[in-house]
Amino acid sequence: MSNETADKPEHKDFIREIIDADLASGKHAGTVTRFPPEPNGYLHIGHAKAICLSFGIAQEYGGRCNLRFDDTNPSKEEQEYVDSIQEDIRWLGFDWGDDLFFASDYFDTLYGYAVHLIKEGKAFVDDQTFAEMKATRGTLQEPGINSPFRDRSVEENLELFEKMKAGEFEDGAKVLRAKIDMAHVNMNMRDPVLYRILRAHHHRTGDKWCIYPMYDFTHGQSDALEHVTHSLCTLEFENHRPLYDWFIENLPVPATPRQIEFARLNVTYTVMSKRKLLQLVEENYVSGWNDPRMPTISGMRRRGYPAEALRNFCKTIGITKFNSKHDVALLENAVRDVMNRESERRMAVLDPIKVTITNYDEAQVEMFECINNPEDESAGTREVPFCRELYIDSDDFMEDAPKKFFRLSFGREVRLRGAYWLKCNEILKNDAGEVIELLCTYDPETRGGANPTDGRKVKATIHWVSARHAFEPAEVRLYDRLFSHDNPDTKKRNFLDHINEESFTVLTNAKLEPSLAEWKPGDSVQFERVGYFCADDMDFEEGKPVFNRTVGLRDSWAKVKSR
Ligand code: ATP
Ligand code: MG
Repeated sequence: MSNETADKPEHKDFIREIIDADLASGKHAGTVTRFPPEPNGYLHIGHAKAICLSFGIAQEYGGRCNLRFDDTNPSKEEQEYVDSIQEDIRWLGFDWGDDLFFASDYFDTLYGYAVHLIKEGKAFVDDQTFAEMKATRGTLQEPGINSPFRDRSVEENLELFEKMKAGEFEDGAKVLRAKIDMAHVNMNMRDPVLYRILRAHHHRTGDKWCIYPMYDFTHGQSDALEHVTHSLCTLEFENHRPLYDWFIENLPVPATPRQIEFARLNVTYTVMSKRKLLQLVEENYVSGWNDPRMPTISGMRRRGYPAEALRNFCKTIGITKFNSKHDVALLENAVRDVMNRESERRMAVLDPIKVTITNYDEAQVEMFECINNPEDESAGTREVPFCRELYIDSDDFMEDAPKKFFRLSFGREVRLRGAYWLKCNEILKNDAGEVIELLCTYDPETRGGANPTDGRKVKATIHWVSARHAFEPAEVRLYDRLFSHDNPDTKKRNFLDHINEESFTVLTNAKLEPSLAEWKPGDSVQFERVGYFCADDMDFEEGKPVFNRTVGLRDSWAKVKSR
């Protein structure tokens, strides 16, 4: 993906077409959407798609998008998640202004709606157990069986429901159900449960309630109470839409929102279910929800993915009704596009070999002017010191090099980026036979990388860092895809069996160009010829540089797959 694709006036998706039509026909005067996360985990890239859609529409149409925490399930929800979700949405570049809501704010109203249904003869208290209800629900082919408690009088139902609320029954002893149709083709319409008894402390309402409304009884009514016009959710709710509409029709709600479903985002080489992400965290497969390998927004932020790249990716994949899996390479390319444009270049040697230039004056230091970002002239230039002792990356040297190896090897020449040509004349080794130093000579005629007059040629340019001036030792964390299988989570495949053992490598002796001492936590950079990195925003401290690899310069997995 290029920036042009991201900026091109896009073809309108079916949801925006519906909104356009509703505005044109006068059905709605404006647009109100909402994003309704359940605070039981951190947001992931799939949520980013939903956020870009609902908040994006609010921005484009001059409407608003509410942030509503769907906190009907007290036992799994925590304040930590509420806080992280808000931080992540803001970081992505969206804002709900004053429109922050909690479904739990509506518990009193919802209770009133339940009483309303009972009074209308459209809800009843059922004494059956969950197992009995399940057994009498029927199948797609067979109708269900009416509950023996379905014909209780309105008075009895009102009294029992009041007692449920007052805590007179055990957890699970009774439920409130809608009285719709046990033979309905849509199983969700077969007298769905509205309220259950559950003694659990709620993160906002504390111990006020011992009955909690079910998701289906909460969601649409919350939309209506907030005057949401278009309630955008993923396809798994398509089957719930008749029930959503039934509640809106049968309750005295102040508005008639419309639910529209779109496809969930799935991405290769990762898992997206919050339950599985929680398992990765709890069982220490990763360092936390914000481990840079996680598909979470906070993990991607820590890894250095720019928010703009996530937004561009979501724009590129678009909105459809068909579930599919997108290649993670598309996301990584969106990251490269933004980082290529924005990140300054610096030299860094991750796995150093020392070089001594025997014909370079020991007392001399030269400063070379280097361009900070060839994609952005305004980023200017910087001075990079050069002296007799340098470091180069061990990858750029080979003792017995085959003909095709164009970097440094014994007796051969290479260009040092922005400096001189360098020739290796002697290799020093330790007792174990490992290369510890290269004795080289430089050609003064090649200053600034110029070609010599005798017609000699070199085919490669390598990066280097002055050993006397290096900012070191730096810790460099090389992150890669968390799973080695492109589809790690299927019925037959256990995702935990496919963790990429090489997804995290730490190098502790990297040598950085001295100007990198100015980097602050979260700042990104391109280490020339190596990849895009960012200063870690947790462990990076004054004098203790830690850089995370955000993404390589090219997709190294493409080759692996085609092999
Ligand atoms: P999970 O199934 O992983 O627990 P969820 O759907 O229960 O996720 P919620 O917190 O309820 O997570 O999601 C909030 C909103 O984000 C919902 O409207 C949901 O449709 C949307 N959403 C969740 N996952 C995705 C996804 N992979 N792609 C697009 N939208 C998503
Ligand atoms: Mg959900």
